[in-house]
Amino acid sequence: MNKNIEQKLLDKNTNPTSMRILVYDFLKQQQIAMSLSEIESHFYKADRVTIYRTLKTFEEKGIVHSIQENNTTKYILCHDECDEKTHKDWHLHFYCKICKQTTCKEDFTIPQSESSAYRIDEIRLFGKGICEQCLEESLQ
Ligand SMILES: [Zn+2]
Ligand SMILES: [Zn+2]
Ligand SMILES: [Zn+2]
Repeated sequence: MNKNIEQKLLDKNTNPTSMRILVYDFLKQQQIAMSLSEIESHFYKADRVTIYRTLKTFEEKGIVHSIQENNTTKYILCHDECDEKTHKDWHLHFYCKICKQTTCKEDFTIPQSESSAYRIDEIRLFGKGICEQCLEESLQ
């Protein structure tokens, strides 16, 4: 299984060090965006700086995208279309006020402009509300 991750990292021009493989593997298992401290508490043996650098490298290489949420930054894996030059995660990031989880809502995307007279490198779209699960539970 780690062979797959190694290949994924290589495809994104990233040297597959053991730490990077571990972090990638962990993020791959998450359905929600994770903050540095959440990731850190999973890797209690690794130091914070190493994990932070790993995430920064991943972000530069189009492997993860970050979400600004109040005062925290959360990270979540990108789709294959992202690369070193551009992130294509132009979708809504949604924070649930009840379970406090942040997820990507890909059915809610930003329309792309046809104009090539300018270049957008980054757009952030952030929403707050109640997620599917919490909404369902509140109706029961
Ligand atoms: Zn991305
Ligand atoms: Zn929720
Ligand atoms: Zn996203």
